[in-house]
Amino acid sequence: MQLKNSSLLRQQAYVNGAWVGADSGGTHPVTNPATGEQIGVIPNLGAAETRRAIEAANAAWPAWRKKTAKERSAILRKWSDLMLANAEDLALLMTTEQGKPLAESRGEVAYAASFFEWFAEEAKRIAGDTLASPWPDKRLIVTKEPVGVCAAITPWNFPLAMITRKAAPALAAGCPIVLKPAEATPFSALALAVLAEQAGVPPGVFSVVTGSPREIGAEMTSNPIVRKLSFTGSTGVGRLLMEQCAPTIKKLSLELGGNAPFIVFDDADLDAAVEGAIASKYRNSGQTCVCANRIYVQDGVYDAFAEKFVAAVGKLKVGNGADAGVTQGPLIDDKAVQKVEEHVADALAKGGRLLMGGKRHALGHGFFEPTVIADVTPAMRVAGEETFGPLAPLFRFQTDDEAIALANSTEFGLAAYFYSRDVGRIWRVAEGLESGMVGVNTGLISNEIAPFGGVKQSGLGREGSKYGLDEYLEIKYICLAGI
Ligand code: ADP
Repeated sequence: MQLKNSSLLRQQAYVNGAWVGADSGGTHPVTNPATGEQIGVIPNLGAAETRRAIEAANAAWPAWRKKTAKERSAILRKWSDLMLANAEDLALLMTTEQGKPLAESRGEVAYAASFFEWFAEEAKRIAGDTLASPWPDKRLIVTKEPVGVCAAITPWNFPLAMITRKAAPALAAGCPIVLKPAEATPFSALALAVLAEQAGVPPGVFSVVTGSPREIGAEMTSNPIVRKLSFTGSTGVGRLLMEQCAPTIKKLSLELGGNAPFIVFDDADLDAAVEGAIASKYRNSGQTCVCANRIYVQDGVYDAFAEKFVAAVGKLKVGNGADAGVTQGPLIDDKAVQKVEEHVADALAKGGRLLMGGKRHALGHGFFEPTVIADVTPAMRVAGEETFGPLAPLFRFQTDDEAIALANSTEFGLAAYFYSRDVGRIWRVAEGLESGMVGVNTGLISNEIAPFGGVKQSGLGREGSKYGLDEYLEIKYICLAGI
């Protein structure tokens, strides 16, 4: 990996504005999932360093919240500009540790930077209210205040965007934040810290602690200084963290698992539906929480859709994400590959029909063949669990009500997609789906302006958008008497 700005690769954590090496806990290796080669190491820190970062955040908080919104905004804007100025390096770093194709990494750098830009703008629009008073001599005023020290735990599938989507609104609102990035992708997070320093983020306002998830997580969730935890990751870990936050009643934002349905009705533009399904299913090799996990196709167009879809999947190119033309990188690790293998084996054992792929790719490591299985039924594991890999299961349905019922038959409710050209059906289905986000005639919905988040066991709260700032603000009511 040849970075133009080699100072972006840091093998130290970043606490209270200083770079921190390994303590007695030693280091943790980080490897390239496409080659198995070691990229570098990160300090394996634990509770003590996390506590230090939290205390530093608390010490930095009064000065940070006292800054004017315009001052905080200028720093965030600079952070965004620095990301874009270093976009090529950040993209290469991301592809090297995460595996996604360079084109996707470039897209993510821009997406991640857009949260700093957006919340730099929104910071200036935090506003309160004056309410009609029921008393002649009292005035009722509502102000918004930062919630205080925040903690964030982020996953490896979007090594930059999942961080900026939390750090940007936190800092905009006047909150400092302590981050634990995923073990597989810490270098993107640490590069962000290098740029934070350059942008003028004061020491303690943004710290990155690398190391033991359990120890760092336990400190973040039990320390009473932390007023809010924002987590993106699996539902299982989210549930655990929620439980750990209960004794100190922390505010929570949880962006958890999805099991997105993707419905193709018989009046759909099939070519557009195929294009959307490819984008939604195979982006990041199927490793996003909004990836189509269950593709429901209406009986009348089932065979035609399957044929066009398989032809499109056949054009995907598997390989090292750093190589030109590659559209499918490796999965993050062997555990991820095993899960896809299990879902494929289960579906085939229960009567699924393999249309394409189905096994590990000849390239080895985390590579898996883009896979399509037809005749999938609700009895198969892929119907109820998120595969998080390049497996597209095609289910068949007859009526609109059946499609909606099938789509909703999961404890998850993050994203849902459907294709139809009938305006009545579009409204009925969009309203009938139990999900936080709905894509109609599109497989790509995420941007900084729209609210991202789920219902049911897909999580709590919304990120991005004008609503995302509220998650980091408290409402204060002031009753002013003696007038
Ligand atoms: P995934 O399956 O996408 O890896 P996880 O929920 O396991 O999802 O991981 C998301 C983030 O949660 C990562 O940063 C990971 O290190 C962290 N994590 C995993 N287990 C724990 C835990 N017990 N406490 C705190 N953080 C954890």
